[in-house]
Amino acid sequence: MKLQINPFISAEKIQSRLNELGKELTEKFKDQHVVAICVLKGSFMFYSDLIRKIDTDISCEFFGVSSYHGTSSSGEVKVTLDLTHPVENKHVLLVEDIVDTGLTMNYLKNSILSRKPASLTTVALLEKPDALKVPCKLDHVGFKISNEFVVGYGLDYEGYYRNLPFIGQVQNFQ
Ligand code: 5GP
Repeated sequence: MKLQINPFISAEKIQSRLNELGKELTEKFKDQHVVAICVLKGSFMFYSDLIRKIDTDISCEFFGVSSYHGTSSSGEVKVTLDLTHPVENKHVLLVEDIVDTGLTMNYLKNSILSRKPASLTTVALLEKPDALKVPCKLDHVGFKISNEFVVGYGLDYEGYYRNLPFIGQVQNFQ
């Protein structure tokens, strides 16, 4: 892919915000055992960096969902990979890459809450408050951004750009 990507949030800025989030979450969980759920595919990079900054016992689960086509949300959430263990009576940390319309996060929250965890904490690296179509309250957010399409640090365009170490804005869509 040969699109022009303008740097938007640098790798250094991401890591420094993750240090803060790691401290907040370490403080919140205070030696509790936590099941950290990585929402695939977009949050894999954020997730792997974030859990290394949370100082408590963590077990890892992966939840695959797909809701996007190109650069707009379809509003329909499809589960591509379900959790492998029950989360009943567990403290759950749900790690999402970006909240845009809020539909995916609400779907995920309802799906986890229906499994009766002891608690559910949500964290998203990015939130686009102006794009919300349904109310969606998050416990922790990395960065609030304007309503523009971004790639990198796990986020893709047509499957590409997930490996960029920074978050960028796509300049020249075809
Ligand atoms: P929502 O259901 O909140 O509209 O969309 C959430 C999902 O859409 C995210 O998990 C992410 O995969 C994708 N998404 C939303 N906004 C963007 C964006 O700006 N860039 C990319 N690459 N994906 C996005």
